[in-house]
Amino acid sequence: MPELPEVETIVSELNAALPGSAITGTRVFRDNALGGVPVADFQEALAGRVFERVRRRGKFLVFDFRDGGHMIGHLRMTGKFILSPPLTQPHAHHRVWFHLDNGRLLIFQDARCFGTLAIVERLADHAPLQRLGMEPLSSGFTAKWVAAALRQSKTPLKIWLMDQSRIAGLGNIYASEILFRASLSPMRPAHTVTGGEPARLHRATRRTLREAIHHNGTTISDFRRVDDKTGGFQDFLRVYGKQGQPCPRCRAPIVKARQQQRSTFFCPSCQR
Ligand SMILES: [Zn+2]
Repeated sequence: MPELPEVETIVSELNAALPGSAITGTRVFRDNALGGVPVADFQEALAGRVFERVRRRGKFLVFDFRDGGHMIGHLRMTGKFILSPPLTQPHAHHRVWFHLDNGRLLIFQDARCFGTLAIVERLADHAPLQRLGMEPLSSGFTAKWVAAALRQSKTPLKIWLMDQSRIAGLGNIYASEILFRASLSPMRPAHTVTGGEPARLHRATRRTLREAIHHNGTTISDFRRVDDKTGGFQDFLRVYGKQGQPCPRCRAPIVKARQQQRSTFFCPSCQR
């Protein structure tokens, strides 16, 4: 699933192309993403709207329209936004085509159909967006904030990092990578992380996310950029998907464990 760095990559690429272009027509090939909104209503809500800019909030893409409305997208497992020259036929996984007045197509593609698209006039009308917690790259995310938030929870660290209502944007890959870089065990109850450790977790979070954005995100299986290129951070992963391989720091074998039905990768020898 795309996480903060992947969504950030897509957002900046869309921002290089979309602002100022108007939607001249919308075609829906499969309506799973619309959450029960009738196709005709979705099309009508978008007709003639002009893109102002695209932003990221957590793992959501927020498309701001010039007249004040918004389209809010979530890629879930396999959703993608692609910018394409005009096409005559949709490909198998194309779900929605947005025709733009500059002749190009914005395509929402989604093989597994868990992705979502919603049109709202005010961001306050979108409940999932309102439930998101702290942005880890914002100025409010400080070592002090991390220390205070850790004290209030007994949740294991990896699960703690992935709770979108606490910190928005982290998923399975980056939670594992951040905890390795912070030398903290994914099983540690949050409130036991004290002293200099919260600052280490804060620093590892920022550094890992910034480095991943610099490399345009991670492509393990599915993530693609808007031009269909892959990300590059998979070459810099230290523990994710590396069970049995030697830890890059201490050479002990990396272990794969399960936490809440998700895989966790860590070094039991240097993550304490
Ligand atoms: Zn190690």
